[in-house]
Amino acid sequence: MTTCLAPLDAPSARRAGAGLRGLATTDVERSERLELMRSGALGSVHSWELVTAVDGPGTRMTVFLSGCPLRCLYCHNPDTLAMKDGGPVLAEDLLARVERYRAVFAATGGGITLSGGEVLMQPAFAARVLRGAKERGVHTCLDTSGFLGANATDEMLDDTDLVLLDIKSGDEETYRRVTGRPLAPTLAFGRRLAERGVPVWIRFVLVPGLTDDPRNVELVAEHAAAIEAVRPGTVQRVEVLPFHQMARDKWADLGRTYELDDVEPPSAEATEAVREVFRSRGLTTY
Ligand code: SF4
Repeated sequence: MTTCLAPLDAPSARRAGAGLRGLATTDVERSERLELMRSGALGSVHSWELVTAVDGPGTRMTVFLSGCPLRCLYCHNPDTLAMKDGGPVLAEDLLARVERYRAVFAATGGGITLSGGEVLMQPAFAARVLRGAKERGVHTCLDTSGFLGANATDEMLDDTDLVLLDIKSGDEETYRRVTGRPLAPTLAFGRRLAERGVPVWIRFVLVPGLTDDPRNVELVAEHAAAIEAVRPGTVQRVEVLPFHQMARDKWADLGRTYELDDVEPPSAEATEAVREVFRSRGLTTY
């Protein structure tokens, strides 16, 4: 979700993290692995990293889970889209690592963010990690497109302190063009989060010639305002992320066709004008 497009000023302007360092990958038989994955004890994880000022408040351990049902044209993590792109990681090993950073999280108001790929491809694993983090008093965040929102149980949402919800386009046709999938599940998930009182940061990637049509932007703002209207205070901020080209080499390395090769990032003025569209609806933007 993920947005998978780091703000340009993000540390290392990465997506996804540096690897699985320090997380024991387990060598288990295939049949046992499937059983462990079903129970949520084991997940397929691409990488993790420690970041500040992205992926939620404070210093965060962002964990990139493998697998995603979307195929966003601007995906910054094309190397996380298949489940096989990750390595097997036990939830308890991940939580042991979370435990190590508790003091850092407490001092900075940070916590753990589950990202991807799409975190809700592995709901049992995500639920177990979220529960374990809450038991340790750690702030939890999901970074998701919301397309698989139906996979999130109510219990899982009760263990989620914040959702970074990508609305990749406001207009149905553009959403399909960007992601290859329909928009409705994302909006339904947004409404459900508001109904359950889960705070949301909405993210929108501004791509010239793809998502920047004024009507499309208006519709994203309309959807964001509609979620906020369900329960005022839900949409704590809208992050408008200017497209950049830092994933181009990854696509080339994977031998995949990258349609946005010639697209230039939006100007600062154009990005600011889009933020103003959200502000005019009373939403806070970054
Ligand atoms: S394809 Fe998946 S991982 Fe890539 S940007 Fe889209 S939602 Fe994120």
